[in-house]
Amino acid sequence: MPQPATPPSPFDAVPAGAAAAAAAGAPRPEPTERFAARTAGMTASEIRALFAVASRPEVVSLAGGMPNLAALPLDALAAEVADLVAREGQVALQYGSAQGVPALREQICEVMALEGIRADPDDVVVTVGSQMALDLVTRIYCDPGDVVLAEGPSYVGALGSFAAYQARVVHVAMDEHGLVPDLLRDALGSLAAEGITPKFLYTIPNFHNPAGVTLAVERRAEVLEICASYGVAVVEDNPYGLLGFSGRTYPALRSLSRDVVYLGSFSKTFASGLRVGWALVPPAVRDRLVLAAESASLCPPSFTQMLVSRYLAAHDWRAQIKTYTEVYRDRRDAMLEALATYMPEGCTWNVPDGGFYVWLGVPEGVDTKAMLPRAVTARVAYASGTGFYADGFGSRQLRLSYCYPTPERITEGVRRLAGVLGAELDV
Ligand code: PMP
Repeated sequence: MPQPATPPSPFDAVPAGAAAAAAAGAPRPEPTERFAARTAGMTASEIRALFAVASRPEVVSLAGGMPNLAALPLDALAAEVADLVAREGQVALQYGSAQGVPALREQICEVMALEGIRADPDDVVVTVGSQMALDLVTRIYCDPGDVVLAEGPSYVGALGSFAAYQARVVHVAMDEHGLVPDLLRDALGSLAAEGITPKFLYTIPNFHNPAGVTLAVERRAEVLEICASYGVAVVEDNPYGLLGFSGRTYPALRSLSRDVVYLGSFSKTFASGLRVGWALVPPAVRDRLVLAAESASLCPPSFTQMLVSRYLAAHDWRAQIKTYTEVYRDRRDAMLEALATYMPEGCTWNVPDGGFYVWLGVPEGVDTKAMLPRAVTARVAYASGTGFYADGFGSRQLRLSYCYPTPERITEGVRRLAGVLGAELDV
C-alpha cells in the first residue's frame, strides 16, 4: 500500500524571503530588540535587587516586607491541607470560575464587613494576591500616557504596574495624617488646567506602605468628594487595615462610597505564599475585570482559595490576626526604641499605629540610595526612598520594616544603620 504523503510541518516551512535574507547574512534583531515599547518601564525594583544580599544571615534585613509566619499554626494547617485533598481533591485540583470560588467570595464579604463595607459576593473578583488585582485594574483603566494619582511615596509594586502600562504617576504628598486633601485638590486643579483628568487616585489609607501613616478619618469623605468632583475614580489598596496596634479599625473608603474599587489580601492576615487577594468593584466594572483576569490566568488557583475558605470557616482567624498584631506591635516598639536610642541628630521618623513600616527622613548630605551598599557592608539593609517614587524623589528618605526580624535583630540592625548614617554625616 502506498504510504500517504507526510503533510508539511509548519515548523519546516521557512518563508522564501526569510531564507534568502538569512543566506545573505542580514542582521537579525537581538531577542531584546523585539520587546514591546511598554517593557521599557519595567525596571527591577530596588528592593528585589537587594534580596540576594539582604537575605545573607549576617545581614539584618530591615528592607523587605515579609510577613512573620512563625505565628501560624502549621500543624492545624497541614491537617487542613490533607483533608482538602482527601475530601475535595477533585474540585480543589481542577480549574474553577474566573471570578473565584463562590463560598470564599461570601467569606471575603464578612472580612470586609469588619471595616464597615457592605458588599455583594457577586462584585468580588478573587485574584492571585492583590498585586494581580492592581495589575488588572491598571490594565482595564490605563492607556499609555494616562495619568494616575498616587501618594508620594507609594507602594513599589503599584508603581511597577503603572509603569508596565505606561501610565504617568503624579504624586500627592502626605503629612502625619495621610494624604493631604488640599494638595490633592491642587494637583487635580493643575492637571485640569492642562486638560488632563487622571484615571484614578491610587491610595493606601491604612498603615501605609512605605510611609506607615493612616489617613485621618475626617479626611476620608473629603478625599472621595474631591475625586468625585473631578470625575476621578478611587482605587483603595488595603492589605494592612486589620493590623492596627490599638485594636481599632478605620472605615474603609469603600464603606463611604460604592464607587470605590477596593483591593484586599490574605497575605498579611493569613499567609502571603497562598497568593489569595481580591478586588471589590462596582458592578459596572466587574465584567471587564473578570475578562481581564481570565486572559491573565484563566482562573485563580482553586486549591489555595479552598484552603483559605476552610481556614476562615474552621479556625479562629480573628484570634490569628490579633496574634499577628501583637507580634508586630512588639517589633514596632523595638524599632522605635532603637531609633530613639541610636539615630543621629536630624533624623526623623513616624510612629506607625499598625502595619509593617517606619519611614525615616535623614539629614541633608545623605543619599539613601548611594549609602545602601555601605549599609550592606555594615550588615544592615533597608529600602531606599527612591524606589517609592516614580519621579526619582526620595533620596533623603528610607523605609525600615520591622515585620520580619526578631526584636533583638531589629535593635542590632538599627544600631548598625545609625553607625552608617553617623559615618556619612561625619559625626
Ligand atoms: N499593596 C500593598 C500596599 C502591599 O504592601 C502589598 C504587599 N507588599 C500588596 C499590595 C500586594 O500584596 P499581595 O499581592 O501579597 O496580596
